[in-house]
Parts: sequence; C-alpha cells; structure tokens
Amino acid sequence: MVNPCSLCTARCCKQYLITVTSFDVLKIHENTRKPIEEFAELADPRILNIDNDTILEFYDSNAKYPDCKVLAIKSGPCHFLTKDDKCSIHEFAPLTCKRYPFGPDGKITEGAICPAISKVLFSFMKVENDLPIRPPQPKGCGFIRAEGQSCVNSALPPKVKTMSFRAELTHDKFNVQLKAYKEIVKKWNSRRGKLSECMEFLIEESKKEN
Ligand code: SF4
Ligand code: SF4
Repeated sequence: MVNPCSLCTARCCKQYLITVTSFDVLKIHENTRKPIEEFAELADPRILNIDNDTILEFYDSNAKYPDCKVLAIKSGPCHFLTKDDKCSIHEFAPLTCKRYPFGPDGKITEGAICPAISKVLFSFMKVENDLPIRPPQPKGCGFIRAEGQSCVNSALPPKVKTMSFRAELTHDKFNVQLKAYKEIVKKWNSRRGKLSECMEFLIEESKKEN
C-alpha cells in the first residue's frame, strides 16, 4: 500500500504550531541533548481548536487577566523537519505527531490538512480495537527515520507488518500523557508564576512523573 505521506509535502510539519506536552520536550531533550530553549518555546496560542486545559497562565504584570501561552516545538516549519521533508527525531517525535491526522476517537480529524488522496489511504489504515496504524513515512510526520529507512514494528501481526507499523505509543498512551500534562498545567496555573520560571517548572514536574 502506498504511504499516504509520500503523496504530501509534510504539510502538517510546516503549517501547524506543533503543540506538545512537557513529557515530549523532556524526551526530545534527553535523546538529542539539545538545550530545551533551542527547540521548544512557550508560544502564543494561535490555533483555534486549542484545548483550554493546556493553556499556561503568566502573571508578569499587574494586568487584570494573565498572559497565556502554550508549550510548542518551534514551528513553521517545525524545528526538526529536514530540508528534504523528513523528521529528524523520528524515534522520539512528540505523540501528537505520531497520532496525526487521527483524533482521540481514532478517526481522521475533521479539517485535517492532508491531501485528499492521503486521507482516503489513511482511512484504510485501521486495526483491531479501532486503533489507527501509521505507515512508514518517506516524508514529514513522526514515523520516518531521519535517514529515510522505513519502520516496521516486529511485534505486529503479519497481516499489518508489510504495509504499516503501529505506533508504539497508541491513542491510549497519548491520552494518559495528555491527562498527566494537564495536571501539571493546572498546578502551574495555581502558582500564578512568571513566564521565565515556567519551562523549568514543567520539565521538573515531568521528571517526577517519569
Ligand atoms: S499526516 Fe502525512 S499526509 Fe497528512 S499532512 Fe502530515 S505529512 Fe501530509
Ligand atoms: S513529525 Fe517531526 S518534523 Fe514533523 S512536526 Fe513532528 S517533530 Fe516536527
């Protein structure tokens, strides 16, 4: 089966603000050894369908209302997208990348920016329990190695092994991580802290959970 992302130019990695959790940031930092400020930021929440529980509040001024940000990979295009449209952190890409274009219900997200033909191909990529399968990615999203090798999970049943591989991190895992991150965000917001203190707080709290 043709890889849906082979028919696309990594649109999602170029066009979206790649919002992530502090667990994603920690994992990337630990694996790449890059300083966090080099690839992650607290960005203006410039997307419409943002999850309110992931919005971080800051009280740097005496304004009546707090300033708000979201945790993100430096985007537009993503900091980790190579010139030839590959993900350079394939093995530890953020969970949101591994899930896209599928939503929490395992269905293709309404308004997904994949080309129409890619969406059609994605729609065939489901397995038992309604969990989606992501293919090896020659371009763009989370399932391609930087060097362009395909990824095949040897634990997969033979019937899916040849066409795709299943994310080692499923929707369930995504939702567990997101829930834990929301608790950290809640804790931060209750502190009424300053912007300059936030990233360190998020990372330290994530280390406690790991
Ligand atoms: S998920 Fe694949 S097909 Fe969809 S926008 Fe991203 S790279 Fe393109
Ligand atoms: S899949 Fe890789 S290149 Fe694409 S947005 Fe995610 S981290 Fe960036």
